[in-house]
Amino acid sequence: MSIRDPIEDLAHLRHEFGEHGGVNMSIEASSTFTVIDPKTMPDLFQGRAGPDKGCYLYGRHFNPTVYNLGRQMAALDGTEAAYCTASGMGAISGVILCLCNAGDEIVASNAVYGGTYALLHDFLPAKSGIKTTFVDITDLDAVEAAITGRTRLVFTESVSNPTLRLANMPRLAEIAQAKGVPLCVDNTFSPLILRPAALGADIVVHSITKFISGASDIIAGAVCGSESFIGELMDLHTGPLMLLGPTMDPHVASQVSMRIPHLPLRMVAHGERAFAICERLVGIGVNVNYPGLSRHPDHELFNELRCPDFGYGGVFTIDVGEEDKANDLMNHLQNEQRFGYLAVSLGYFDTLMSCSGSSTSSEMSEEGKDEAGISPGLVRVSIGYTGTLEQRWDQLFAALEATGLVKATSRRRTA
Ligand SMILES: *Cc1c(COP(=O)(O)O)cnc(C)c1O
Repeated sequence: MSIRDPIEDLAHLRHEFGEHGGVNMSIEASSTFTVIDPKTMPDLFQGRAGPDKGCYLYGRHFNPTVYNLGRQMAALDGTEAAYCTASGMGAISGVILCLCNAGDEIVASNAVYGGTYALLHDFLPAKSGIKTTFVDITDLDAVEAAITGRTRLVFTESVSNPTLRLANMPRLAEIAQAKGVPLCVDNTFSPLILRPAALGADIVVHSITKFISGASDIIAGAVCGSESFIGELMDLHTGPLMLLGPTMDPHVASQVSMRIPHLPLRMVAHGERAFAICERLVGIGVNVNYPGLSRHPDHELFNELRCPDFGYGGVFTIDVGEEDKANDLMNHLQNEQRFGYLAVSLGYFDTLMSCSGSSTSSEMSEEGKDEAGISPGLVRVSIGYTGTLEQRWDQLFAALEATGLVKATSRRRTA
């Protein structure tokens, strides 16, 4: 598989039809499953029979609808297998607890989702003695130097939240592989755009809650990886997804499976809108950060690694310096201009915006935020594709003007 052929993979995503010939897969609502021959039961418990052979045991283990969504996710990411979880955090914590025992270590990017940061920085050391060394993931020498004999995984986001730096996945994979450590990439910000498995990652996790769902109505996640790793996660006696129980509901799996077919269209729409708005913001002198801009520090690398059909993603940031100014801008954008909503999360069809330092990254210390480059006035914008570009630009410009961030005359320069 190459990084450039996801459309072809997506065309093969459809594995299942409904029970009565329905064009959508059926929802299997059972929490437990009968066996015809009593001898199948021990086979299931010993792993000799399983969903790959059409044998199911219990819904927290495998459910056919969730299993089928897992196959769609595996096709999306180009991995052998995948399984879905109740949330992105369920996926991330499952992966970590599968690979690490008490006293083991993780090397992780210092710019990750706040929940992941809190899990690695505080929760895991306190509960299990699993310690994380945080590094600037763009500093490859620092990554290599941080890996010790106890390191059990290297963890990064493909595009970091909220700083939008790109992980050099092929190089990170080389470094990790040379040390015999798997590379796990959280690809929540860039489904389809970046394909971490094709770029060398061993494990890919997603918060389906964001772009893949696309409607901010579902909390869900997935782990994509080798057949054997997914098997370990789901092992009846030792698997963390089995024993900790972050299980996806089959109704949710059915809903998500009907959104994956239009994920490519949505990613393109988010990317086009973000690109157009960011170019205009540059034109009027706003401090904007977006991987699609030539001035972004990883723009060239992004062009090398991305699948060119899907743009540069739907998230950009505007740095207005101070938290008060950020709040003033977001207040105008939501309450005066109806440009979008002051809310955490991303990947929604409408625009969502939040001040990262005081919201989704508030778990981090001031030094941690400083090191990761999260300024107090950083507004993260997950751009929606509703309305027209001109309508949205007028709204955004009016809010920037009203909050003194641009002068009225500057608009003409972009015309
Ligand atoms: C939201 C998010 C998560 C957590 O996902 P949930 O579905 O909310 O549990 C993890 N990683 C990233 C990058 C996210 O944006």
